Amino acid sequence: MSAILPGESTECPICTMPDPLEAADGFECATCGHEWLAELSDGLDNIRDANGTLLANGDSVTIIKDLKLDGKTGGVKAGTKIKSIRLVEGDHEVDGKVNGRALLVRAAFVKKA
Ligand SMILES: [Zn+2]
Repeated sequence: MSAILPGESTECPICTMPDPLEAADGFECATCGHEWLAELSDGLDNIRDANGTLLANGDSVTIIKDLKLDGKTGGVKAGTKIKSIRLVEGDHEVDGKVNGRALLVRAAFVKKA
């Protein structure tokens, strides 16, 4: 694991000097002048379904829980499949379409198909 986490010290990949200068979208080494992009994690590479399986864009998932839709009649039944999901930020990480309707679902309420 080499991802740079917030609060962790960063060092220059060329000369390994710690504490580089922070540039607009990355870092600049004050010692050798090397510039590189920050490895900012968007958190979308570690979204797991109800079974703890990693989800990725394009996966198909099955909903495991009857879901009510906010402010709308109807809902989505357990067992409904969502094809070709897209992962998004937020507490409802799975973006997909069911019967032509856009839907956001918590990753904990789906399992990978
Ligand atoms: Zn350097």
